[in-house]
Amino acid sequence: MTDSVKTLCPYCGVGCGLEVSPPASAGRATHRDSQGNPIWKVTADRAHPSSKGMVCVKGATVSEAVDKDRLKYPMMRDSLGESFRQVSWDEALDRIVHRIKTVIATDGPDGICMYGSGQFQTEDYYIAQKLLKGCLGTNNFDANSRLCMSSAVAGYIQSFGSDGPPCCYDDLDLTDCAFLIGTNAAECHPIVFNRLHKHLKKDRKAKLIVVDPRTTKTAEAADLHLAIKPGTDIDLLNGIAHLLMRWGKIDTYFIDECTQGFAEYAQIIRHYSPEIVAQSCNIPIEDLEQAARYWADSERVLSLWSMGVNQSSEGTAKVRTIINLHLMTANIGKPGAGPFSLTGQPNAMGGREAGGLSHILPGYRVVKNPQHRAELEQLWGLKPGQISPEPGRDCWSMITGLETGEVGLLWIAATNPAVSMPDLERTKAALLKSPLTVYQDAYYPTETAAYAHIILPAAQWSEKTGTMTNSERMVTLCPQFRPRPGEAKADWEIFAEVGRRLGFTEQFQFETSADVHREFIQATRNRPCDMTGINYERLQQEGPLQWPCPEEENPVIDQKEEKLFTSLFKNPAEKPSAKRLYTDWKFNTPDTRARFAAFHSKGLAEPPDEDYPFVLTVGRLYGHWHTQTRTGRIEKIKKMHPNPFIEIHPRDAANLKIEEGALIEVRSRRGAARFPAMITKAITPGTVFVPMHWGAIWADNAEANNLTHPIACPISLEPELKACAVQLIPV
Ligand code: SF4
Repeated sequence: MTDSVKTLCPYCGVGCGLEVSPPASAGRATHRDSQGNPIWKVTADRAHPSSKGMVCVKGATVSEAVDKDRLKYPMMRDSLGESFRQVSWDEALDRIVHRIKTVIATDGPDGICMYGSGQFQTEDYYIAQKLLKGCLGTNNFDANSRLCMSSAVAGYIQSFGSDGPPCCYDDLDLTDCAFLIGTNAAECHPIVFNRLHKHLKKDRKAKLIVVDPRTTKTAEAADLHLAIKPGTDIDLLNGIAHLLMRWGKIDTYFIDECTQGFAEYAQIIRHYSPEIVAQSCNIPIEDLEQAARYWADSERVLSLWSMGVNQSSEGTAKVRTIINLHLMTANIGKPGAGPFSLTGQPNAMGGREAGGLSHILPGYRVVKNPQHRAELEQLWGLKPGQISPEPGRDCWSMITGLETGEVGLLWIAATNPAVSMPDLERTKAALLKSPLTVYQDAYYPTETAAYAHIILPAAQWSEKTGTMTNSERMVTLCPQFRPRPGEAKADWEIFAEVGRRLGFTEQFQFETSADVHREFIQATRNRPCDMTGINYERLQQEGPLQWPCPEEENPVIDQKEEKLFTSLFKNPAEKPSAKRLYTDWKFNTPDTRARFAAFHSKGLAEPPDEDYPFVLTVGRLYGHWHTQTRTGRIEKIKKMHPNPFIEIHPRDAANLKIEEGALIEVRSRRGAARFPAMITKAITPGTVFVPMHWGAIWADNAEANNLTHPIACPISLEPELKACAVQLIPV
């Protein structure tokens, strides 16, 4: 009889620990799904340091989807109009290798693109980088994390000199004031929110500020809800900074000793008087002042944000403007405080560590840095100059590359762009032009499989061993404990096999994922995300480990730092631990100072106008995950969220004579979709909300991304999926 197994939830970036028991464990009744099939029982891992015995409905039901609609064998077709035929791995891989060679010979390596996923384990990510960026010599690897948290990455790099969320989940239990902006954590990061909520209930003096145009479950719990006009986040943040300056509630010692650029920033925020900001954000002036007062009166402020900030044409500016507030008040590097971006995907953080975006390289390196490229060429046994100095295509530019004929092979893995990309009609039209699309996934059918020439069966959660890193930099080993269906393989195994068939036998001599991990951690040596002290053996014996974790374990805080901490923190129990970054207030910039940045708000890329008078915002629901590839196959979750809908404020509904449940056609400049109306005061007048989960497989004509646009932040290249202008037509 197999014992229970500890692993990680494969859904969101909270990264909760799970304990999974086989269908018929001794002393337990067999757990069955709604069709009576035995399923593995999932409970919370009480010992996991991040989730402390909590789990939400997604994690608790994950095993119910693992055996449904699985892709078991490689399949191919010569054109999209044909049916797939089952083929051997040899036949499928030979065709891929032949195509790679042909594209390189005719168009060079930049004709090849891979679009991966925060669902990858770190080992998958790492081998994909080695194949594409190292061996093939193109940086055209991007992940769906581009649509999720690349603005946070860019903001951290520019403000602190390096990526890496400085906070940890213990800060949720220690903060005096939680400032949640652009995140519906109660539904989208529920266990993080549960932990925060418990603390707020215990410490009645601690405050919760929520900034969101919707009255979400998160906003309902707030001491202060600021339902700002979409696109005015920077106005609000500068307005709070203005009041903190006016009241003298800034930390001049920290600003003088640990930062650069404050003078220019101070000039900018002088323009953001409460009167101007309240008007532009469309909130009462008293609420703005109250928010600033909470910041001013709190010793420890913790900001949390996710897609509402990141998915914006000024996403990096928003992130940096949040960080500005932390820098001017020294709310960083100490317990209960800091700017904390919540990642969407379970291993988006591992992707960052492994270099899984088109402008970065493993070990928090960047493509443009010649020394970084040289270090990896040496580690990978490649000739100097093999890694291209140019950032590769981000995921939207892969789509435009298909339009222009510059992409000769698109390889998509563990993501579903035919639902999740912006401007879906254009995306799908581009996919139809692809000369060869390889699609690698655990499930079939999916919306994207319809655009593939070759589909490859991937092993998923529970069927392969690897590591994942959650939002607080905690690395968990996720072991294989179930057999793989049919001929499914781990993603990294597929990439490595292609590498060997291309002649890179030396580079891909891995037999197990532990071999891959051993090499990967060498790429992190002496880097901000140093994980050389984290290996499979330690993870098995000690459980999850947080980085930085260099080989020389538990680095001792030097005496000078010890003295600084003692003077800063009266209660010794509050002394900073290795769990936080920047506890010595030295940053990863050349002069160790953090950088202020001064921004004026530019507003929405596509503001409402006479023709398209409403702002559409999109988001997730508590039970569903992204494009429903898993959760759409789980009965409990389907019952919880049976249909898509559109939230409309009663005043707007009355003006348009819309009744509850009426079918509404929503049109933008790019496309249309239809949703039943849900009339609610939860949304502000002039704004409407639709969930993003329903692709063509799950509902007719209810694809939110038919409406969205691809205009992106010029720095992070993250599209503004959160807002576009629409009109509403009762059908
Ligand atoms: Fe999984 Fe996220 Fe739910 Fe935790 S909060 S159980 S990681 S979906």
